Amino acid sequence: MPASLLDLQGVGPKIAEKLSRLSILSVEHLLFHLPIRYQDRTQLTPIGALKPDAYALVEGEILYSEIAFQGRRVLIVRINDDTGSLNLRFFYFNSQQKEKLSKGWRVRCFGTVRAAGSILEMIHPEYNLIEKDHFLPMPDSLTPIYPTTTGLHQIRIRKLIKQAFLWAEDNWQDSSSEIIESILGKDYPSLLDALNIVHNPAADLDVSALMSNQHIAQQRLIFEELLAHQLSINLLRSKNRQHKSKSLKNDGKLFDKLISDLPFSLTSAQKRTIDEIISDMKSNTPMNRLLQGDVGCGKTLVALAACLMVVENGFQVAFMAPTEILVEQHYRNFSQWLEDLNLKVGLLTGSLNTKSRRTTLNLIRDGKIDIVLGTHALIQDTVKFKNLCLIVIDEQHRFGVHQRMALHDKDSHKHPHQLIMTATPIPRSLAMTIYADLDHSIIDELPPGRKPVTTIAVSESRRHEIVESVKKTCTEKKQVYWICTLIEESDIFEREAAERVFQYLSEMLPMFKVGLLHGRMKSAQKEKTMRQFKNGEINILVATTVIEVGVDVENASLIVIENTERLGMSQLHQLRGRVGRGSSLSTCILVYKSPLSDIAKQRINALRETNNGFDIAQVDLTLRGPGEMFGTRQTGVVPLRIADIVRDQKLLPKVQKTAGEILGSNPESADILLERWLGKSFNLGKV
Ligand code: ADP
Ligand code: MG
Repeated sequence: MPASLLDLQGVGPKIAEKLSRLSILSVEHLLFHLPIRYQDRTQLTPIGALKPDAYALVEGEILYSEIAFQGRRVLIVRINDDTGSLNLRFFYFNSQQKEKLSKGWRVRCFGTVRAAGSILEMIHPEYNLIEKDHFLPMPDSLTPIYPTTTGLHQIRIRKLIKQAFLWAEDNWQDSSSEIIESILGKDYPSLLDALNIVHNPAADLDVSALMSNQHIAQQRLIFEELLAHQLSINLLRSKNRQHKSKSLKNDGKLFDKLISDLPFSLTSAQKRTIDEIISDMKSNTPMNRLLQGDVGCGKTLVALAACLMVVENGFQVAFMAPTEILVEQHYRNFSQWLEDLNLKVGLLTGSLNTKSRRTTLNLIRDGKIDIVLGTHALIQDTVKFKNLCLIVIDEQHRFGVHQRMALHDKDSHKHPHQLIMTATPIPRSLAMTIYADLDHSIIDELPPGRKPVTTIAVSESRRHEIVESVKKTCTEKKQVYWICTLIEESDIFEREAAERVFQYLSEMLPMFKVGLLHGRMKSAQKEKTMRQFKNGEINILVATTVIEVGVDVENASLIVIENTERLGMSQLHQLRGRVGRGSSLSTCILVYKSPLSDIAKQRINALRETNNGFDIAQVDLTLRGPGEMFGTRQTGVVPLRIADIVRDQKLLPKVQKTAGEILGSNPESADILLERWLGKSFNLGKV
């Protein structure tokens, strides 16, 4: 039985709460919290041989440490070995840390080397202090890097996983292994051995196999994870088919009136997909439809057609989007479009104050709001609808299958129709697995007159020229996005990067107003900044990837994206879609760090050559060799830990077959696998 986390050394309620954010609710879950990659810390690098932008393990004596003021308090520690010196820089530190990091001690640290002028430095390295004349042994295995959350360090996670293994050796019985091992055959290690290899890989292991997830221990786990995923989808589908929903009449008067007021007409792809949706909702099995279409193809209007059909029949709609920014934007558009139609649109987000929240909840419960827009706050239990009949989910790549299920649960006797929209193009074969429970509609054409975005790639060393382009754009009264992307696992670094760029641009371009937007800001602050950018009060918006989805500011005509080489093509394409929405020509500058790998060059070339999201997805698929970091896993289409639907697609037929067998003959194993791999995000009792 899964032991309680609180039984582990070093875990109290606070740490347990942090672990739960990583879906770790039991000791067993720790074993399945798998590394996202590995670092080789078995070799020291002489400080004199360090190169900027590379990870390295170094060891040196502390020459001095001091607190400097660089806009804020910074702790700077200078270390030296026989070959050279290096600065360690800390923004977050306490007095205890400062005291310990003092002259005379040796320190071994691991981190990314950066060039700060002529000096090399590491920002927030992981470190161990070593007493004089002591020796710290080198690790003899690769160091796993785990997904983590604020306030939970890699080191802590590593220690907890070690304890989990001790627990497992004595206590863990795995009754699901037998059936999987009978299918996979004898070549594969047992489950516990596989986990051990993956968490503690010996340095003499086939490192390249491991780094590219091809090691047989990883294959064992990948198979099992895909199996759990397939089981969940099969169960979901069979449940869904048994449900009944309201069948609606299609009158179409409201929507006709809406489009007759628009300054453009619908594309034929929009008309076709609207027809598909309408015919679904006329039947009495619940609609479960995925609407795919490139950024800017006009999915919102298609969804609105569905909403109006529901409202005309006297029922309610819940319309969800992944960020408050996006919800607000829909709210403004909807309120404007629907003004003359005499229906009521409501807004429900996490940042409402208690009073207006209560008012809105009452209106929803009494059926006085027809269309409710909201973030995931909409799936909280306190939201009761009078007669919910349709759920629309915008930008599905941010919502998992299992959040979809939670929505189903809203109204457990009646089963609302569901429409899910995404701009992430997924080739059909994969969609069969990822979205096997859904029907598909595709908008394969953009509204006429769209001007393609010109894309150029510029090396980071030419930052001054980029700033010149920004200046020129702003001088022409156009606006600019400057996107700082994730450069480490932790979003602290993303924010740091954004803050630095914000300061830099504010200094370089004092005649323009620069704004800052990142995920750690309060929602009210985010909204305010976004609104100011929309209204043109901010010329340049420096943002982290929180801006990625759906945001629509027509006057923005330049987007600068940093660290291009680290992002997936689909994500870059999404980001680029923030510009090119108005009538003027737009530009996207992809900033990269030299030297670029061949694959990175090909990715960037493909982005320069086409603005078509489906083509880009195809190139992405063919370019992705094993070992590539980017994939469906990172973009969040499916919340997988080690498997990657694209990379591992050759396993899918066997996975599908096994899933069928398990559900037929051994449903208890299915429960074990679901609880293990999907944990709290999956609860069939609720579907
Ligand atoms: P997405 O599919 O990315 O969600 P939106 O629904 O936000 O795209 O639409 C992008 C923009 O295109 C919006 O400003 C919308 O009003 C406009 N639009 C939608 N359909 C058409 C059309 N048929 N012709 C011209 N513009 C359209
Ligand atoms: Mg959209």
